[in-house]
Amino acid sequence: MAASLYRVEEESKSIWVYLEQENGLLEAVSLELLAQGRQMADQMGWELCALIMGHEVNHLVVQSIACGADQVWLADHPLLEYFTIEAYTYVAVQALTQGRPSVFLLGATPNGRDLAGRLAVRIRTGLNADCTGLSMTSEGVLVSEVSGFGGGILALIQMERHRPQMATVHPGVFSPPESVEGRNGKLVEIQTDLSEDMIHTHIVERVTGRGIDLGRAPVLVAGGRGVDGDFDLLRRLADLLGGDVGATRPPVDEGHIERERQVGQTGVVCRPKVAICCGISGAFHFVVGIEKAETVIAINSDPEAPIFDFADYCIVGDVHQVLPALIAILQESGEVVYA
Ligand SMILES: Cc1cc2nc3c(=O)[nH]c(=O)nc-3n(C[C@H](O)[C@H](O)[C@H](O)COP(=O)(O)OP(=O)(O)OC[C@H]3O[C@@H](n4cnc5c(N)ncnc54)[C@H](O)[C@@H]3O)c2cc1C
Repeated sequence: MAASLYRVEEESKSIWVYLEQENGLLEAVSLELLAQGRQMADQMGWELCALIMGHEVNHLVVQSIACGADQVWLADHPLLEYFTIEAYTYVAVQALTQGRPSVFLLGATPNGRDLAGRLAVRIRTGLNADCTGLSMTSEGVLVSEVSGFGGGILALIQMERHRPQMATVHPGVFSPPESVEGRNGKLVEIQTDLSEDMIHTHIVERVTGRGIDLGRAPVLVAGGRGVDGDFDLLRRLADLLGGDVGATRPPVDEGHIERERQVGQTGVVCRPKVAICCGISGAFHFVVGIEKAETVIAINSDPEAPIFDFADYCIVGDVHQVLPALIAILQESGEVVYA
């Protein structure tokens, strides 16, 4: 691999986090990364810097500093009002070349992934994508936890020679930061010569997401291939418990449920009080999405299903018999358990 734009010896001792915003609101995953970045920066005695790009987003500077940033690198420009890959890459390369961070973290959102891939190529460094954990060695090397080979192994990847050490991380992997009012930090305004002719993306229509926020549901009722597409049954149980419905990848791929509801390595990482896994085998790619649940209940007709090794409560049985029985009991008791 060709040498990066700057060498290890030229890095500034800093961790950078890309703070993704939409309409002036920060993505939850960006704040979660700020919290983890703060912890790692404190461990190393380094600075934590936030990179913000947008238009008329100055109000985010105070929020970022309150949430742990020592410095906020802000690019405020009319052409950055909406995300376009050309504009955001151009400005981010300018900022990274100037700031020379050791580590650069982004959320594994659609735009975060898009930006991270292009940036890694531009600045000739590596990228650990879809990480489920991050830590630092005492020598300042980022250790990224990624599942590989069909989920059979958990790889800990280190990037010793290339800078910045880049990683994208799923929403929900880390807890959000505490906001400390009156915390001190520095603003660095990025001067950019960005111009319209650099942008080839034309925004035809902007569609707002449906607001599914599985990461915060207190109860997750997740269905797998064993549910046979009958997600109405799961929805009834979730409604009774004040929870929400998630899924493994196969029912999403088969079109039984929205992609935003996929739980796991390439979906959402959830932290519910209770996760009820229905007709799910327990592949590693799925389990990483619920391993932070306080209690896991699994219903599977196969007593040897790997999900039972992970679950706190195991129900061997057919979901089409167990779930209606559970729903009937809850309806009879008339109680909402976890609203
Ligand atoms: C790079 C990569 C990323 C991936 N990312 C994700 C991800 O983010 N999320 C994800 O979920 N997967 C992901 N996958 C796929 C993952 O590896 C598994 O294939 C998937 O999780 C399996 O889904 P499943 O448990 O629903 O299906 P299966 O593995 O087919 O399991 C179905 C289970 O249902 C049980 N069952 C069948 N009928 C019944 C019944 N009537 N009652 C009770 N139980 C029954 C069976 O015993 C079986 O255990 C990824 C794969 C790759 C390669």
